[in-house]
Amino acid sequence: MVSYRRILLKLSGEALSGNSQNIDTEMLKTVVKIVQSALDLGVEVAIVVGGGNLYRGATLAEEGMNKITGDHIGMLATVMNALALSDAFDRNKIPSMVMSGFPIGGGVCEPFNHTKAKEELSSGKVIIFSAGTGSPCFTTDTAAALRAVEIGADIVFKATKVDGIYTSDPLKDSSAIKFDSLSFDSAIEQNIQVMDTAAFALCRDNNIRICVFSMLEDNYALANIINGQSIGTMVS
Ligand code: UDP
Repeated sequence: MVSYRRILLKLSGEALSGNSQNIDTEMLKTVVKIVQSALDLGVEVAIVVGGGNLYRGATLAEEGMNKITGDHIGMLATVMNALALSDAFDRNKIPSMVMSGFPIGGGVCEPFNHTKAKEELSSGKVIIFSAGTGSPCFTTDTAAALRAVEIGADIVFKATKVDGIYTSDPLKDSSAIKFDSLSFDSAIEQNIQVMDTAAFALCRDNNIRICVFSMLEDNYALANIINGQSIGTMVS
């Protein structure tokens, strides 16, 4: 059996939006169930949440906005998602804490601190990392890899709408074939779009595996993978 002590779950903003354009309470409930199933196995859970359901820097820049300002807005969007997630955890009696990649006052959330994050994880809290890396020109995938390294996570789980990595987009190409496993070098060489190259490289250089799985098909998929089932695609 595979044993993970501490995992990092990367949730894109899309994972929270369901059929709506912003934050869907039903999707929050789904995330709570998924995280609870991992906690029930005695695993510590940290989350990096994206913001693409609300704002993406690149989209705002395409409309003429300054690129850096667009990224600041994108990072703030991730903070809103993190607060919504934390509230959903609170309502389900799961202790959690939001940390931000840049300082935000007013008691909204804590500034990122790797030592404090590790202490809180050890005490059973779910830590939600927001504001990405805290700097523009990065993605929350890269932030997920970075935070995984900083907190000593054993693995990054990337929850997507598709059940793993395919040779091409299975939603557009019916001949696409799923990989059960893939090396970091192949993922980078083949320019696999499910995560960016910086995220793959950071995980490769720090020996942290990435598992890509679907969070839509089964609320217990994450728990089943933690229990050793071969689901999704493992990049190592
Ligand atoms: N972003 C950023 N720096 C980071 C992470 C994110 O500037 O370290 C900005 C960027 O504009 C991005 C937005 O935040 O478009 C939302 O993040 P992302 O697109 O990664 O969210 P996801 O696709 O996971 O929902």
